[in-house]
Amino acid sequence: MDKKRTFSTGYLLLALLVTWLFNDLIYKPLIIREAEVGYNVFLQDLSENKVGQVILSSDRIIFTLKATGDQKESVANAVAVNDPALVDRLIASGVPFSAQPQTRSLFSSLLGWLLPLLPLVLIWYFLLKRMGGMGSNAMSLGQSKAREIEGEMIGVKFKDVGGVGEAEVELREIIEYLKNPGKFTHMGAKLPKGVLLAGPPGTGKTLLAKATAGEAGVPFFFLTGSSFVEMFVGVGAARVRDLFQQAQKKAPCIIFIDEIDAIGQARSNIGRIGGNSEQENTLNQLLAEMDGFKANSGVVIMAATNRPEILDPALVRPGRFDRQIQVPLPTEPGRLEILSIHTREMPLGDDVQLERLAKITAGFSGAELANIVNEASLLAIRRNSGRIAMTDFDLAIERVVAGLQRKTPLSEDIRRKVAYHEVGHALTAYYLSGTDPVHKISIIPTAKGALGYTLQRPEEDRYLIGEAELRARMAVMLGGRAAELIVFQEASTGAANDLERGTEMARRMVTEFGMSKKLGPVRYATAGGSYLQSGINGRNDLSPATVSSIDEEIARLLNEAQETATALLTEHIGVLHHVAQFLQDKEVMSGDQLAAIVNSLTGTKGEQ
Ligand code: ATP
Repeated sequence: MDKKRTFSTGYLLLALLVTWLFNDLIYKPLIIREAEVGYNVFLQDLSENKVGQVILSSDRIIFTLKATGDQKESVANAVAVNDPALVDRLIASGVPFSAQPQTRSLFSSLLGWLLPLLPLVLIWYFLLKRMGGMGSNAMSLGQSKAREIEGEMIGVKFKDVGGVGEAEVELREIIEYLKNPGKFTHMGAKLPKGVLLAGPPGTGKTLLAKATAGEAGVPFFFLTGSSFVEMFVGVGAARVRDLFQQAQKKAPCIIFIDEIDAIGQARSNIGRIGGNSEQENTLNQLLAEMDGFKANSGVVIMAATNRPEILDPALVRPGRFDRQIQVPLPTEPGRLEILSIHTREMPLGDDVQLERLAKITAGFSGAELANIVNEASLLAIRRNSGRIAMTDFDLAIERVVAGLQRKTPLSEDIRRKVAYHEVGHALTAYYLSGTDPVHKISIIPTAKGALGYTLQRPEEDRYLIGEAELRARMAVMLGGRAAELIVFQEASTGAANDLERGTEMARRMVTEFGMSKKLGPVRYATAGGSYLQSGINGRNDLSPATVSSIDEEIARLLNEAQETATALLTEHIGVLHHVAQFLQDKEVMSGDQLAAIVNSLTGTKGEQ
């Protein structure tokens, strides 16, 4: 509406300008030129008494010619010449004459000033546009670049997001609140102001945020962290301010900041050479705005990051992004859901088995699965087929995998080995006292290249660890390798990292903690250096015999740890097989599931 108005005003001004230019620069000069006569003709007409009246302007002499028998009175003009006798001649002829002041309209005077400035303004405008990509309005610099999508227009619902069950449960509460803030305010309950979605790229964080807004039917402000930061100082902070002002007017609503790490990086991480104070200012402004609005103001800020660990601690403390929701890579059932969502409206051939696709795509993100489905449909179109066949999917996977080398679908054989390896760790931890409880076991390859992992969570902060506990920990580290040796009769490269960590621990037990009877309570390393390291901190005064004794002791500790693990796993071999099978089927299992399986086996069948 506003836009239209400025448009028509612009056209009106343009029309006036064109009319004026036409009148002044074309029409008037034409008329004048047509009636122009030479100065000598004017003098002759004057002396012959044909002139009725004369007007002297700065550059012309305009005069009327009296009517004669067959001619009416007419106007003519002559270009003025420097003739000092002209006035005397006019007085002598008795013709009435007057002078015309040199007048210029205000408009033409203004134009005279403005026209020379025009090229300068144009150059400035184009330079600014190229530097900042700021569009046509330079004043928009401090305005946030958030894209607002009205609630009804979002169209994404939870049914469009697959494999994110846990995240969905957590977000339901936020939706309830956005739909009916009064209910929460009435109870005095405070909702988290900020929700941080953390997980690897392409797992559907943006999609989840949109679905939250879509389900609640509230407006959604979308922008990326990097769009706050411009080359001009202070712009980022101004944009944050503007964003919160806009959002508060539209409450209840959701602000979604993608890649928040672009502004939320820990301040100590920001490059020290010269610092990046612009980013710091933007972050400070964000913190201030989050503190500034009340918990129940109806604005929920959601943010996404792939690297929650680098965020400034101030950003994730209570009162800011105090709820963290993990959005991990999808498990097999999750992948099946995602594949079903994306093939919902596609004609699939009868031979397509989404279950098999889900099975072989361990480690793929939602975005990669969506990409596979898209590639498969393109392949089907290329074949001129109306339906997508299983071969299209197989080829699509090959293509996508070629672009993502680390994500080769794992063969059944490797998955089996990885499962036994991880369960080896987990069961050793389960049966040995003094170890941290198992929290999660997974055989979904991680983005960092591990084929699987077993997570243990300490139950309390540990300040002092005894020798028995260190030995137990070492046994857990070697439990994976022990399981492989028991089941497959050979070790694999998968244990390299375990051996590295185990060896380091054994080395410290011998050289730092005096836990070897043979070597006694002697410290063979100084802080910051291992026993062989030379230089300021290390000691290089050890005899070769001592060095070889240290190596022997390290090897003994590691061997004993592996024997402990092997003995335990052999004793509970039935449990090992059972849990490994469960893990191959489900890909991820929790510590509780592990305990439940072990209990059920020990309780009913007993162990084999
Ligand atoms: P990034 O961290 O790179 O910003 P993201 O986690 O925000 O990624 P999205 O942008 O939400 O990922 O996902 C990209 C696309 O991948 C989506 O538009 C959707 O098509 C598909 N996708 C990703 N995850 C899922 C999922 N869980 N369910 C359905 N589709 C998904």
